Amino acid sequence: MGKVIGMDIGGTNLRVGYVDESGNVLYHKVVPSRTITEGGDAVRDLIGFLKGYVEECGEAPEAMAIGIPAVICDDEKTVFQAPNLKDPSGKMLLDKTNLADPIAEAFGVPVWIVRDTYCLLYADRERLGLQNEKIIAAGYIGTCYGGGVMIDGKILFGKGGLAMDFGHFTLHPDGKLCRCGKKGCLEAYASGIALQDLREEYFPDTEIGDMFTKHRDDPILKQFVRDCALPMSILGTILSPDVYLLGGGVVEMNDFPMEDLLEAIKDQAGHGAVDAGMRFVISPKDSSKGVFGAGIYAREHLARG
Ligand SMILES: [Zn+2]
Repeated sequence: MGKVIGMDIGGTNLRVGYVDESGNVLYHKVVPSRTITEGGDAVRDLIGFLKGYVEECGEAPEAMAIGIPAVICDDEKTVFQAPNLKDPSGKMLLDKTNLADPIAEAFGVPVWIVRDTYCLLYADRERLGLQNEKIIAAGYIGTCYGGGVMIDGKILFGKGGLAMDFGHFTLHPDGKLCRCGKKGCLEAYASGIALQDLREEYFPDTEIGDMFTKHRDDPILKQFVRDCALPMSILGTILSPDVYLLGGGVVEMNDFPMEDLLEAIKDQAGHGAVDAGMRFVISPKDSSKGVFGAGIYAREHLARG
């Protein structure tokens, strides 16, 4: 099997690389996501970017998987909704768009579209040796709150692929306005976006990177951590997973109170999940994780045929 391309399109940066048979990430490249979002036709611009990249690397890939911060339909091709990929006028891009087929046609290889958090989950499962775990639940708290569940090595897609959109369940009815348009979503209280809002409102003189260093014992941030814990408490209670993966940019911040997060997850979970013993695994910091995970995803799908 040759090399595959893994791509990780975030709200800010787009990362891409080839992943070889041994799991090495080669030709890792980072460009601003606006490379594909500001031209008004993200599909056309993504294909244009990929053509330039493949030419630069001088190697045709055998397949591609592209991670996106979005809900992806269970055809593994169609973006259902991507509230964090917008053009400069604020219009959402790629909604209800089959992104895989035009790229597959342009390059003559299979292409899969993956929710970004599943790329992280695939990467962590591979690198941390979790392949034999029956149920893995993951919470990645970055700009947005994402996560997922894998059972027996398979993603829990739910009907149409829409499971695990847990950044957008209502935590506080009539609460803060979320970027998705609803009020009171979890993500408006527990995410990098929410932390930035808290900084502006309560700690305007603190740099975002110093929030936990300076204010981790403040009741405002204590509540933030409890809100971050809540989805994992719920997932833990419902699924009683073998492993809880925790990661993301917020969790990786300096002096993030990880012990408080773990305590809050246990504290808010049902007795059964706590009694079963909760095995938390912290996702290691690595900026190419999404690219690597997308590559592993492509490899597994190719091998499956
Ligand atoms: Zn929302």
